[in-house]
Amino acid sequence: MTSKVLPALFIGHGSPMNLLAENPFTSDMVKLGTQLPVPKAIVVISAHWLTRGSFITSSDKPEQIYDFYGFPGSLYEYKYLAPGSAEIAGFICEMTGKDTIIMDGRRGIDHAAWTILKHMRPEQDVPVLEISLDIAREPHYHFDLGRKLASLRKNNILVIGSGNIIHNLSEFNFDDNSKPFRWSEEFDLTIKTALENKDFDLLINYSKLGLAARRAIPFNDHYLPMLYVLGMIDNNENIKFVHESIQNGSISMRSFIIG
Ligand code: ZN
Repeated sequence: MTSKVLPALFIGHGSPMNLLAENPFTSDMVKLGTQLPVPKAIVVISAHWLTRGSFITSSDKPEQIYDFYGFPGSLYEYKYLAPGSAEIAGFICEMTGKDTIIMDGRRGIDHAAWTILKHMRPEQDVPVLEISLDIAREPHYHFDLGRKLASLRKNNILVIGSGNIIHNLSEFNFDDNSKPFRWSEEFDLTIKTALENKDFDLLINYSKLGLAARRAIPFNDHYLPMLYVLGMIDNNENIKFVHESIQNGSISMRSFIIG
């Protein structure tokens, strides 16, 4: 236990191709990794683990899940061998209150975690756990669960929400050098401003933004991890962007740190 309060992060992970790419996003992730203290554990809120109820990985040796299809073979050969931690999973379940989060000893770690940790924590030495998204719940539930997780920051545990603020795969441009769509630039700017103003009401109730939100967030699995991180902000803290770009036309890579 330590009295130091760790930051928390929201990272836009984008395409699995970022695992092996060298681009402005990956170089910002490498830089961020060198600036962070070494935590006792890393807990990733994953856009790629959708459940009914909230779960946490509790295996001491979680398997690595290659949960994407049709990508080059080299992506499936990459190994991220960090351990898990049943003890820390148990601590988190206890801390959040009875049955709020349920332990899952069989689930492994998906690419929402390891494609970014490859750049941020290449040593693979810190235990990594994942928390799922209860996809049946309204956005406010995820913000509130983030509030309950906030004290992990005082326990030397680094929480990372891993998703994307804008994630429209039906308009995804496979050209990695493609320009952002105008609608995605506009929506990214709207959310950037809301983050700067800590307008949590708008960020939680993003559907108020109407058609623009439906195009940017056709399904909210990649947006919701951000709400956990917003729930972890103290009143006197601000949001600092650690990366901003739009990849493949329709994927916002905007990433930020709190604390
Ligand atoms: Zn994803």
